[in-house]
Formats: sequence, structure tokens, C-alpha cells
Amino acid sequence: MSEQEAYGLKDSRMLLQDTMQSGGDSDDPAAWLRETDIVSYDFPYAANLIADSFIEWQGELNALPFTKNWEWCVLDAEGRWIDQIKDRQEQWRPQWEEAAAVSVSSGKMHAMQFLVEDRDVNFFTIPMFTRNHREIFALLGCAMSTEQYEQGGKHTAEAMALHFHTCFYRRFEHVFVSDLANVHLHAERESNRRSILFQIVQRMHDNIDVNAVLTEVIDSISAMYPGARLELFMSQDHRSSNPQVKPLPLLWTKNDVCARAFKDGRVAIETSLEDSHVVEIGLPLGGKQGVYGVFHMIMDNQVFSDMDLQFLSMVADTAGTAFENAKLYERSNQLIRELRMSNELTQRLNKSLRLGEIFQFAFEELLEMFEADYCCIVHMNEEKGGLEVIACNHQPLLHEILKDGQGLGGKVYATGEPLILSDYINNNATASRLMDSTDSQSLIATPLNVGGEVRGAIMLAHRDAHYFSYDNYRLLQAMAGHIGLAVGNARLHAEVRRLANRDTLTGLFARHYLDEMIKERQNTDFCGSLIVVDIDQFKAVNDTYGHQKGDKILKQVSEIVKSSIRQGDIAARWGGEELAVYLPQLGVQQSVLVAERIRERVMGETEPRVTVSCGIAEWSWTDERVSVETLFYRADMALYEAKNNGRNLVIVDNKTINAF
Ligand code: GH3
Ligand code: MG
Ligand code: MG
Repeated sequence: MSEQEAYGLKDSRMLLQDTMQSGGDSDDPAAWLRETDIVSYDFPYAANLIADSFIEWQGELNALPFTKNWEWCVLDAEGRWIDQIKDRQEQWRPQWEEAAAVSVSSGKMHAMQFLVEDRDVNFFTIPMFTRNHREIFALLGCAMSTEQYEQGGKHTAEAMALHFHTCFYRRFEHVFVSDLANVHLHAERESNRRSILFQIVQRMHDNIDVNAVLTEVIDSISAMYPGARLELFMSQDHRSSNPQVKPLPLLWTKNDVCARAFKDGRVAIETSLEDSHVVEIGLPLGGKQGVYGVFHMIMDNQVFSDMDLQFLSMVADTAGTAFENAKLYERSNQLIRELRMSNELTQRLNKSLRLGEIFQFAFEELLEMFEADYCCIVHMNEEKGGLEVIACNHQPLLHEILKDGQGLGGKVYATGEPLILSDYINNNATASRLMDSTDSQSLIATPLNVGGEVRGAIMLAHRDAHYFSYDNYRLLQAMAGHIGLAVGNARLHAEVRRLANRDTLTGLFARHYLDEMIKERQNTDFCGSLIVVDIDQFKAVNDTYGHQKGDKILKQVSEIVKSSIRQGDIAARWGGEELAVYLPQLGVQQSVLVAERIRERVMGETEPRVTVSCGIAEWSWTDERVSVETLFYRADMALYEAKNNGRNLVIVDNKTINAF
């Protein structure tokens, strides 16, 4: 409470305005102060000021020995006793009040004589006038012997009353001025804070980076309250390099200010039980969508006021909104980035239908997308009997085969469940070679689903603990979906290609494939031979045993052909019951041996027994260019000859025979 309020006087700012207006044109800069006055409106509240001035004045009177026997009192504007003064001469109150009543109505000093302890005593009251409007604001009462009164005591008392008047106004001015100074100080501090708050708000909203917002608010509060201890507890998995930013404790102590502030979303304050000079404050950091954290402040109670609380609440509110905005901005950026990356990945994946390339692309893109230290993709390889490490930037693991659900990759493959690990060293229920050998702490892993079946697993690792966020974990699962689709497409494509090149009945290559292969080999090889194999009298076989039996024989012959040639030779169904074998880098001499082997085996191994005739032709780089069609034509001619010569024969094409 201000001194002026304590005296119940008119607000000094209003008075200041009044006086400035009335005395503004004076040369004396302090004139307004002298013209400042107590007015009738103030009289009912002036008792304290009058009483205090009276006590002060009396202290000064004690220095005057001749007034020792005089009694003084003070009365209010209406001549009533002022209770605030514990006057010794309470018993004379009626006498003074009687004289005062006369003074109030006449506006003059009034004296009355009474007999006190056999002596004549004069009781008189002197009115005190306001300096501007000359209204009575108080009455000074005095009592002295009639003898002293008549011998000049009256005049001395009047002079002393004048001194009281001065004492009163001195105190009045002091109250007024000190209050004005307080108002000024208050206004100055207020405006200072406002300008700081404004700067903080501006700087915080200039920042669209979440961490920068937090650092800004921490720095601003620390600068305002250098002696205070400040920390910020954040509820989300918020990574910050600032040491003052910490995760929310899992368990609060009972009645913790931070717990209260966080739960209620309002400022909580508590004076320390051990030390009453210390105040503890919990300020929620919240926005429209929720409370994200809580500031914890410990500071000196003596420098802390309601105004500080208001100021801090405003800073925290602003920080909460700025944080929320930055967070939303960050999130939308993140989404855009993820979309772009996912788009890039799928585009790149779709460019290729080769499994090896798809895994390599996926591996490269994932490493970059998640800024991971390691990426490892494992894929089921039935032939090798386990999960094969098909892509990995930790070389020793590449092409390893993991058997029986080994390691984390094996676990993800076996369970079909994704996995997130943030602290491998302290939580390694499953030992992992990837994590151990790369010294990694964080891992996200997801099964690789291809056509509704788990075919492998994708793992991303980082050396730092708590590196991957929950968003990363979800994103990897989404990416694995795209990779699984691409892998499925590549597998389907390979299968279609395989089917397109094969004859379904015999399992031999189709004719067009043989054509292509011969053309390809002619570009690189020096020579090659073609054997055409035709079953003898097959029409009769069909007629005798039926078409189905005929098919079986055709299959038997095909198996004999397949098992009679080298790995690089290509056996195809040429059409109907005619087969063809291309023998790269083989001349007719060796081809005849192959054809003979086939002819003999067919004769000996088929059931019911059939025979075959073979026609052979060759090409060599020393010849004129021989087209595939010509090669076939020649072999066919040789076959025709075999048929004409009694069947179950191997004949080499004329031209070739002539050649050697
Ligand atoms: P040759 O070659 O010794 O001169 O007598 P051929 O009876 O084998 O000759 P031809 O070319 O006249 O007849 C071929 C027969 O082979 C006609 C057809 O019924 C039979 N054939 C062709 N393709 C198939 C097939 O896929 N399955 C069965 N069962 N028979 C087939
Ligand atoms: Mg035939
Ligand atoms: Mg035929």
C-alpha cells in the first residue's frame, strides 16, 4: 500500500493532473507542489496524517522548556477528538471539544476558562486552515494557566500552532512526493518489462526452429532473473542439446510444483518449507493443443512479486504458442520430406525389375533418408537354406547366411513384427552381430513382406542411443511396404520371363529363346553346332498308343536330350515332335558324338520304344556369315536325308561334310 493510500488521500496522479493544470504556467517548477492541498473531500480520511504530524510536532516542542506545563491536543475538521492519539489528557476532552465547537462555527480561535485543581486554566482551540481554500481541516487544542495565557502565552501558542501547520504540510508534501516517486518507479519497471516481453515475443515468433524457441525463452528468463535456477522438463521425446532441457521425470514427488503446473496447465508456486526466502515456481509450456512441458524456477522470494508472476506467465504462454507453431512447422516439413523421399524411393525402385538392383537402391535410399550409420537387408534364400545378407554397409556381414532365426534380423523375420531399440547395450534380450560388430545402440527394423509373405527383414542402426524417433519407426514400415511391392514385382517378372522362355510340356526352352541365344553367341563365339532331333514314325506311335502316351514319350526323349548335353548347351522344343540342341563352341565332329549318344539312349531307354533321326549343321567364324535361319535349314536338310536313308540315323549337313 502506498503512503497516500495509507492516509486515504486522493490519488496522487489525479492531484498531479489537477495541479499541473492550475499551476502549469508558473516559472517556479515546484509551484505545483506548494499548491497541492488537502481538500474537504479528504477531511474524513485525514485523521492519521493529522495525528502523525501532531506527534512529530510534539517531539520538536519537547525542546522548549517553557511550554513544559502546557497541554496540547489535536481535533479533526469538525472539532471531534482524534482517537489515533493516545493523549494523556483524555479527562479534558469535553472542555476542548466545547471550545472547538465554537471555533468551528466562528472560524476563529476560542478560549474558555475552567477550574482545575483549584487553579484557573484556559482551554483554547486554534483552527488550522488549508492553504488554498482556507477551510478548517483540524483544530489544535491547548491548555495553560490563565496567568500564563494572559502574559503572552496565547501568542506563543498561536505561533506554535503556525509551526504545527508547517509540520502538517511538510508531512503532506513528503507523502505526496514519495508516493509520486513510487508511481514513477513502478511505471518505469512496468514499461521496462513490457519492452522486454515484446522483444521476447518478437524473437520467439521469428524462430521456426523448435530448439531455437526453447533456447530463446530459457535465455530470456535467465537474463531477466540472473540469480534464479531454471530448467525445462519436456514431455515428448524431445532431443535438445541445451543442458537445461530435460525429459519429464516419470515420477513426481507429492505436491511437486511442476506436476501441478503440468497437470492443471496453470502457474504453480510454492514457498520452500526449509527456507522462506526461496520460492519455487512451475510454469506450464502449453499451446492450443496441449501442454508440452514445464519450466521449473527456483529464486529468491524477496525479489519476487506478483508482477514477476504475471510477466513469467506471459513469457511462458508466448513460448508455448511459439513452440507449438514451430512444432507444427517442423512436422509439416517432416511430412513433406518423407513424401518426397518415399516418392523418390518408389520411382527408383520401379525403374528396375531386377531383384539385386532393387535391394541395392532400397539400401542406398534408406541410409540417406534416415541418416543411419548402418543399413542391413536380409532376404530368404531357400537354396542356401537361410536368410542371406543381401545388402549391408558393414562388409564382413555381406552375403552371410543366417540360419534358424539368428539375431535381430532373424527375430523380425520369424515373428513378422517390427522392432525399435533405443539402448541396445542395456536391453539386449537378443544378441545381434550387426549391433555388436558396429558398436551400435539404436535400431529400427521391419519385416519385408512380399505378396503377403514375410521374405526378409530391413534393419537400420545408429551408434548413438535414442537416435530413432517413433516417427522414424513408422516411416520405415511404410517404406518397407514399397520395397516389398517392388520385390514382388521383380519376382513376378522373373517368373513370367522364365515361363515365356520355356515349353510347358517338355520343360525345354522355347524355339524363340533358342533363336535369340544362337544370335547372341554368334556375336561372341568362334563356332557352334545345331542338332535337330525328330522322333521317327511318331504319327504311328500316336495312332497305336494314343496321344497321351505320345506326350509321355515326347517327355522321355526330352529328358534324354537334356541329360546328354553339357551345362552351357541349349536344348529346345523346335516344334511338334522335333527337338533342337545348340552346342556353343563345338564343331560337328564332337556334335556327332552327342547326337549319337542321344540316338542310342532313345533307342535303349524309351518305353514304348521309339527311335530318333538327327540332322546336324555347324557355323564357324571363318565362313561367310551364316544366319540362324540358314543354320536351321541346313540341319533340317540333314534330317531329311536321315529320314530318307532309313531313319534312326545321325546325318551331318552336306555343306559341312564337304568342309572337312
Ligand atoms: P517321320 O518323322 O519318321 O517321317 O514320321 P512322322 O509320323 O513322325 O512324321 P510326321 O511329321 O508326318 O508326323 C508328326 C506327328 O507327330 C504328327 C503328330 O500327330 C505328332 N505330334 C506332333 N506333335 C505332337 C505332340 O505334341 N504330342 C503328340 N502326342 N504327338 C505329336
Ligand atoms: Mg517324326
Ligand atoms: Mg516331324
